[in-house]
Amino acid sequence: MESLPEQYQFIFEHVPVAIFRINTGNKIVLANPSAQSLSGYTFEGLQGMDIGDLIETENPSHPPLKFLSIENEKEESLVTDHELIHESGRKIPVQVSANKCPDGFLHLFIRDVSQEQRQSIAYREIEKRYETAFKSNPDSVAITDVAGTFIEVNQGFCRIFGWSMDEVLGRTAVELDIWVDIQERDQMFEIIRRDGFVFNFDARMRRKDGEVINVLASFTMMMLSDVPHNLSVIRDTTSRKKMEVELRKTMEKAEESDRLKTTFLTNLSHEIRTPMNGIMGISELLLGEEHYTSEHKELIKIIYDRGKDLLSLINNIIEVSKIETKQTRYSFSETSVTELLDAVRSSLKLNGDLKPAVQFHIESSEDIVIFSDADRLHQVLMHLLHNALKFTDKGEIRVSYEKTDEGGIEFVVQDTGIGISEENQSLIFERFRRVEGDDAIARGGAGLGLAICKSIIEDLGGTIDLKSKLGEGSEFRFTVIDQNRR
Ligand code: ADP
Repeated sequence: MESLPEQYQFIFEHVPVAIFRINTGNKIVLANPSAQSLSGYTFEGLQGMDIGDLIETENPSHPPLKFLSIENEKEESLVTDHELIHESGRKIPVQVSANKCPDGFLHLFIRDVSQEQRQSIAYREIEKRYETAFKSNPDSVAITDVAGTFIEVNQGFCRIFGWSMDEVLGRTAVELDIWVDIQERDQMFEIIRRDGFVFNFDARMRRKDGEVINVLASFTMMMLSDVPHNLSVIRDTTSRKKMEVELRKTMEKAEESDRLKTTFLTNLSHEIRTPMNGIMGISELLLGEEHYTSEHKELIKIIYDRGKDLLSLINNIIEVSKIETKQTRYSFSETSVTELLDAVRSSLKLNGDLKPAVQFHIESSEDIVIFSDADRLHQVLMHLLHNALKFTDKGEIRVSYEKTDEGGIEFVVQDTGIGISEENQSLIFERFRRVEGDDAIARGGAGLGLAICKSIIEDLGGTIDLKSKLGEGSEFRFTVIDQNRR
């Protein structure tokens, strides 16, 4: 290897650029440490190597190695892009600066540009992504300068506002008469001045054909080449607004018809209840008459029992109507659980609801007194027990209770009846829902009771849950809270 004057040796050895000195025969005569690490060759390996073997000359995407024939050209130096073939065979994109020396030798300064190339590919990718987002956005996207002049708009703008690209660029929103309400515009720009942006501003704007449209406009300030600009994204909500209005009208109609239906049901139920009470009263009197035979009494009992079913159905319909129109009234007082359960037991006995084949237990524990609605709790317990009795042919029905951590009460009503399948367990709390099947139909009911119970329990600050297994029985658990602790 040739050697350099001492004062240049240090620079030569430490500069992070690969330096090659090439003689007129294209052979490397000198290479610095950076040249070694870039090419992967040792000094010995590089010395005498033809520069054409190190730097790609046949790649069509690169110009031929002009510096090899620089002798014949006028230029003293030349910068070109090439690929350097690393010792491993890997190609490295490089920038080559070739300088012709007075002694006819060439000095090549070679820089690895793979990092820059990767970066510029990444930048181009990002640019393409944003350009696609801008162009293909179905909303209007526009860039205006501080004077409000449109610099760039997308197809979405042209579609929404009806102007062609040529008609828009270089003009302002004022010139295009886009704003319908100037106050609205001022209000929006006031927000932009204050916050630097505005998001989904509800406004009305005008199309080229004069049609007024509803839009949601978002504006944000941005700097382009250090100059402030406005970026706007505008969504046409006209059809959505129309749909919303239609939907509201339909909903109002549905609510109105629901209200009418509820009123009708309430009125009808009240009208039926009055004569029914007459029928019930008379059949009760007839049952007490001594001169009727037992066959007659059996028939009268059927009238009485079916009448009772009908009355209970009517009462439930009235109850559901009240729940729907939020008219259920509550009356709170100090309520003793033992007194409540005694009353429940008496009602069941008095009505002749209990069945000989089914044992009925109320587990006695220490009395709990809470501030709640005793009549409503009585109603819920009676309903759960009527269901338990209805769906249990043998075995037992058990009622128990305990204090909850929150100072309320949890009641449990268990039976050994037909049970409820898993898929039906959540459905039966919805109104008019019954477990469909011959059994349910045979046992009767309109499917209102549990919906009423759930609504009452929730109004009393509690929840109701069900555990059940088909063929084994059901367990309804519900809680109520002390209203004084609410
Ligand atoms: P209904 O007012 O007709 O009694 P509910 O809402 O009280 O209706 O009950 C709905 C359905 O849930 C009943 O038709 C029945 O299928 C089922 N169900 C309720 N309680 C029980 C139970 N203890 N055992 C089995 N099935 C039950």
